[in-house]
Amino acid sequence: MKDDCIFCKIAKGQIPSATIYEDRHFRVMMDINPATKGHCLIIPKEHFDNIYDLDGETAGRLFSLATCIARALRDALGCEGLNIVQNNGEIAGQTVFHFHLHLIPRYKGDDVKVAWVPHESDPDQLEEIRKAIKAAI
Ligand code: AMP
Ligand code: ZN
Repeated sequence: MKDDCIFCKIAKGQIPSATIYEDRHFRVMMDINPATKGHCLIIPKEHFDNIYDLDGETAGRLFSLATCIARALRDALGCEGLNIVQNNGEIAGQTVFHFHLHLIPRYKGDDVKVAWVPHESDPDQLEEIRKAIKAAI
């Protein structure tokens, strides 16, 4: 638990939240400023700043839970699609520095933008980058 972390306090139930699901490891709650109807967050109860800190066991449990919540959103709300978003670092849009996964139900005509501009790739450069990443695993 990190003293000044709002999501630690929410995860542990010290600050109230609109909770959908809770177990020993996670709390799932409604996002207070939802992108769409049903936008919710999965928060581990243990503090991790971001994905770099997350251990494999928690990550496995997290994604298993995400599949369950995704189906619940589809069945309860009839969304036509779903984005899973997870921001790491300020430049990537992270504003709360306690790891969390966004589940954003999608509806025809909504105003969500999860987009990037695709660039053409240079095969030599791509190969260089592939090797660098492979070597770092
Ligand atoms: P991110 O930008 O990925 O760090 O996302 C942080 C998210 O947390 C935003 O979508 C906020 O709306 C949401 N949020 C911040 N404070 C609360 C809170 N007290 N309860 C629920 N959601 C929150
Ligand atoms: Zn925290």
